[in-house]
Amino acid sequence: MQLLDGKQLSLTLQNEIGLEVKEAIALGRKRPHLAAVLVGNNPASETYVNSKIKACENIGFRSTLLQFTDQVSQQELVVAVQQLNDNEDIDGILVQLPLPSHIDEEKVTEAISPAKDVDGFHPVNIGRMVKGLASFLPATPYGIIMLLERYKIATEGKHCVVIGRSNIVGTPVSILLSRNTYPGNCTVTLTHSKTKHLKDICLQADIIIAAIGKPDFVKAEWIREGAVVIDVGINRVVDASKKSGYRLKGDVDFENVSPKCSFITPVPGGVGPLTIAALMKNTMTASKSRYS
Ligand code: NDP
Repeated sequence: MQLLDGKQLSLTLQNEIGLEVKEAIALGRKRPHLAAVLVGNNPASETYVNSKIKACENIGFRSTLLQFTDQVSQQELVVAVQQLNDNEDIDGILVQLPLPSHIDEEKVTEAISPAKDVDGFHPVNIGRMVKGLASFLPATPYGIIMLLERYKIATEGKHCVVIGRSNIVGTPVSILLSRNTYPGNCTVTLTHSKTKHLKDICLQADIIIAAIGKPDFVKAEWIREGAVVIDVGINRVVDASKKSGYRLKGDVDFENVSPKCSFITPVPGGVGPLTIAALMKNTMTASKSRYS
């Protein structure tokens, strides 16, 4: 079993982007600039946004954080996004999800200019991705693609079972792995809460991508010997021994599943850091597109 070290790969990718920034500045170009919009004080969202801002600093990007209370109206948020669209210096915009329930996330996502949609959630980018056209790929699926690519995991002709069909992870990653390219050319089965015989389906998988949101959901007896397992889940479970009172667990029962795998991602330190690297890649791409 080999660990797929997302933390290390994320650092490598961020170093590569940092070099691109230095080259761009040496050519007299503008420093890439990411704007993050954070609503309310959901601790997980705050942590994610802080990690993204910190990554910007490490790479040499400018960053701007716009914070709103959870009383903000949908219209105020849409106006704030439109101002970021109009701001010439800003290359990429991310609105940290989830938003409070009185706000329609779709309306806010659709307010972002597709050219600055570095999270890849805008319908224009999703549509272009489905057609195989150049687009900003959603950050987590893009991170998974880079992980498979950099570790040279064979995907052609493999059966990939994706568990979870969310718009931000399961559905886009299933589309990307079905594409006629590398990493891709998989035969993909997209499963969800209404799927019957999930264990039997998983037992046929060469690659399993778990994005469910339930700790230890995927069990060892679901795994074929030598399978590749990508665990997207980030679940907080109570742990009195930790200062925070919790620790992070994936959707896969790592302890029992990992001995059966050829490759597996840990949680934390797997897909999570790659999501940040993918966001940075998209922001760099957005910035470079000014000069092409
Ligand atoms: P969602 O809650 O949006 O989707 C969960 C999916 O799991 C749904 O499609 C749901 O099916 C499916 N599901 C739920 N129960 C079952 C079941 N019993 N059997 C099969 N499928 C089931 O979650 P997200 O995709 O947003 O996130 C999934 C996990 O990944 C979470 O832990 C989240 O924190 C993590 N995450 C991690 C990221 C990272 O950077 N590493 C980024 C984004 C998310 P149905 O559609 O039928 O309801």
